[in-house]
Amino acid sequence: MTRRNSFRIAVSAVGLLMTFLACSSYAAKSSRSVGGDTPITVVIDAGHGGHDRGGIPGQRIAEKDMTLDVALRLRNILSANGYNVVMTRSTDVFVPLGGRVAIANSYRNAIFVCIHFNATGRRGASGIETYFYSRESLPLASAIHYYVVGGAPSDNRGVRRRGYYVLRKTNIPAVLVECGFLTNPTEAAYAQSASYRQKLAEEIAAGIRGRNSVASSFGTTRVATAESIPLQPYMDQTKVTSSKKSRSKRSHKKSARKKKSSSKKSGSEARAGSSDREG
Ligand SMILES: [Zn+2]
Repeated sequence: MTRRNSFRIAVSAVGLLMTFLACSSYAAKSSRSVGGDTPITVVIDAGHGGHDRGGIPGQRIAEKDMTLDVALRLRNILSANGYNVVMTRSTDVFVPLGGRVAIANSYRNAIFVCIHFNATGRRGASGIETYFYSRESLPLASAIHYYVVGGAPSDNRGVRRRGYYVLRKTNIPAVLVECGFLTNPTEAAYAQSASYRQKLAEEIAAGIRGRNSVASSFGTTRVATAESIPLQPYMDQTKVTSSKKSRSKRSHKKSARKKKSSSKKSGSEARAGSSDREG
């Protein structure tokens, strides 16, 4: 990241911090109520699989392996947190998009989280981006993006609205997160680190837990006020990249400390459970 970009992002982060602080009392209240909610079902969709490697032709790292690994780690974390978890795939198999959507739509009180990594012919392209389609998916998208970007060293490419099949056809809140570019040497190196994939899973889980607190501040103030959400806006109000800033922000939340200890536990469980995938 260039120094200029760092500065730009730092400035943006200050704006986000102010928004966040303004809503911190709401967030703390909401966090306390999470434990009392009816457990929701999280349908985790690991992108691609089987003959579908994902990415672009000739790509060295198979996207399907990275998405599955993060998805399995996320499953472990969410299960440990008391969520009902359903996987569209938990092995290296091909599941058609229609099949994935059918699984998602067979659950009530559920959310759908698709995990992907990005690819492009331009080696310089980098960053995290999160997609949603329906209005009711935006809070979840904002929250997941907020945490993943906060915990990643990558650039923030924003929350975007796009009509991906799995987002358009699902009847429940649905989000697709692109966890970095496997065609970018730096981000590919991160993706190949088991501890980084664990980190990604923990941040996605934090977004799921915080979907009613973090996102509502964006949803009610700046994003969801328009009658219709235009396709593919660049929503940089969620811009925050410095993990240090993110940490200090999160320390305001009562749930942050709880999250730390619980995710540490589930993290070691996850690593133990998927050690054959590391390396
Ligand atoms: Zn993909």
